[in-house]
Amino acid sequence: MSQVLVPTLPSFDCRLLTAVQKLVPRSEREQWLRAWQAELWHVHHDDRQSRLQAATIMIDLAIGLVRDALWLRTEDWRKAFSGTAVLCLGTLASLILLCTLIDLALVGGAHSLWVYIRMPILRCLVAAPLVLFVSLATGLRRHAGRSSARNRGLQWKQALFFPAKVIQIMVVALLLSVALCFPLHTFFPYSVELLQILCFVLSTLAGMRWAIRDQELRCKECLRSLAMPAQVGRPSHNLLEWNGIELSCKQGHGLLSIPEMETSWRRSSEWVEMSIADTK
Ligand SMILES: [Zn+2]
Repeated sequence: MSQVLVPTLPSFDCRLLTAVQKLVPRSEREQWLRAWQAELWHVHHDDRQSRLQAATIMIDLAIGLVRDALWLRTEDWRKAFSGTAVLCLGTLASLILLCTLIDLALVGGAHSLWVYIRMPILRCLVAAPLVLFVSLATGLRRHAGRSSARNRGLQWKQALFFPAKVIQIMVVALLLSVALCFPLHTFFPYSVELLQILCFVLSTLAGMRWAIRDQELRCKECLRSLAMPAQVGRPSHNLLEWNGIELSCKQGHGLLSIPEMETSWRRSSEWVEMSIADTK
C-alpha cells in the first residue's frame, strides 16, 4: 500500500484506492491519492449525513474515482501517442485488418481468399512501381533546412517510417480494390480485372498523396505531426518579405516554415531546429 494512504480510512476505502491507483499514471499518482483520500475522509467524518446518505455518496465517489483514474490514464496515452509515427502505422495496420476481415467475409474463407487474391497481387505488383514513380515525382518536395548531428543520428527512423507507411497504404489499396470488385465479378466477369487494377491505382495515388503530405508536416527529429499552425506575414509581403505558415513540434525540436507561394528566393519550405532558431 502506498505510503500516502491515511490509516484512519476504512479498510474498504484503502483497498479501493490501492486497486484503482494502478490505473493512474505514476507521475500523477500521489496527487490523485491525496485528493481522493481527502474526499473519502470528509464523507466519513461528516456527522450531518445519515448512513443512507453517506452510503449513496460513497457509491458516487467510488464510481467517480474510477472514472477519474481512467480519464487520467487515457489522457496520458493521448499525450504519449498523439501524432506519433507509431499511431500512424498502428492506424494503417488496423485498416489492413479491417479490409482483410471484409475480404474474408466476402470471399468466404482464408483459402478462397488466397486463391482469389493471387492474380490481383500480381497485377498490383506490376502497377505499383509506376504508381510510386508518378506519386514521388509529382508530390515529393525537398525541404531547405539545417542538419545537425542530432538529426543525422536519427535519420534511420525516417528512412524506415516512410517506406513502412507506403507499403501499408499499398496493402490497404489492394485489399480495398478486392473488396469493391469481388461483388462485381458476377455482373462484369470480363472487365472486373481492369476495374480492380484501376481501383488499386486510384486508391494508391490518393494514399500516396496523403502519405507525402503527412511526411512533410512531421517533425524531422521525433516524427510527430507538427501542430500550432500560425500565419506569419501578409499577402503584400510575398515578394519582399516572409509570408506563410509556421508549424512547430510540440516537443520543441523545431519549426517548419511553409511559404504561401513559391518565389525565386524561397522555393520550398524550411525546417529550422529550435536550438538554431533560438540563436537567429
Ligand atoms: Zn519533434
